[in-house]
Amino acid sequence: MNTNIITLNQYLNEYFIKFEVIKIIGYKQLLINKNNRRFNHKKVILILILISLGSVILSGGVSAATISNNQTNDSSQFNNCHNPYHISIFDSSIGGNVLSNTAITQYISRTDLSNKIFNMTNQGSIILKFGNGNGPKVLICAGVHGNEPQANIAIMQYIEFIKDKNFNGTLYIIPFAIPQDTALNTRYYNGSDPNRIANINGTPGWKIVQFAKNHGINYLIDVHSGGGVDANGFIYINSKSTNNEKKLVSYIVSKTNCSTGVEDTDDPGMIRYSAHQYGINSITLETERDNIPVMDAVNAEYKMIHAGTKYLGFP
Ligand SMILES: [Zn+2]
Repeated sequence: MNTNIITLNQYLNEYFIKFEVIKIIGYKQLLINKNNRRFNHKKVILILILISLGSVILSGGVSAATISNNQTNDSSQFNNCHNPYHISIFDSSIGGNVLSNTAITQYISRTDLSNKIFNMTNQGSIILKFGNGNGPKVLICAGVHGNEPQANIAIMQYIEFIKDKNFNGTLYIIPFAIPQDTALNTRYYNGSDPNRIANINGTPGWKIVQFAKNHGINYLIDVHSGGGVDANGFIYINSKSTNNEKKLVSYIVSKTNCSTGVEDTDDPGMIRYSAHQYGINSITLETERDNIPVMDAVNAEYKMIHAGTKYLGFP
């Protein structure tokens, strides 16, 4: 939007100046001629032509600028954003330099968007919002455990894949759930496992679940990596899973050949189970962290994420 306003001003400034210069030169010439009492008809005609040419250029310039401005208005996305997404700070109390984590530095491509995300995560966790709002509302968060970079790398790949796309529904993504923990490559948040305290008021996981609840999220996908996971990945499902959760999981399994399992206990401190208790369909994705090459694990995670988003109607 701003670029087009500048373009319009540039057009106006440029052509007004040209027009004024032509006018001044023209009138000066007329004055000189009049003072000299040697009225040159050819010169006067030439000056008049120059003045009218200035007017034509001026009006043409303005209308061209107006058209290009209107076209931008027609194609602009929600909230007049230049890009089809919004990005903002989600939790300003847990910022950190995620580039201190060598896996993040090594395996995430540097683009304008990823650089922006890396910069912003110094101030807190961030949230991206995609989609036009007409359809399901989905939240994906990654890296609530700061030592599971495969989760962050895979979700950043998916963000790069959809960043220019317009689509139905609303997709929120929190790519680094606790940047300060990713920076330290640690599982623990202030000495506790953050995925066991999501039911405690004010914790990072609690804020994610409350956001999901307050924004009418239909599906929450929590992305992790860990030890002893099949090469194609693994999905944790709630023991009393809803039909919608089951359908989502079977679709992902059909596309990726990943395994699934139910946690021994439904821990209310887990983001997945906490969200499920609020009636939000919720699953946990896992990919191998320790025993296969990082990018193999990332690819398995990416396939599960993409199958899930596809099932929910997103690109
Ligand atoms: Zn984890």
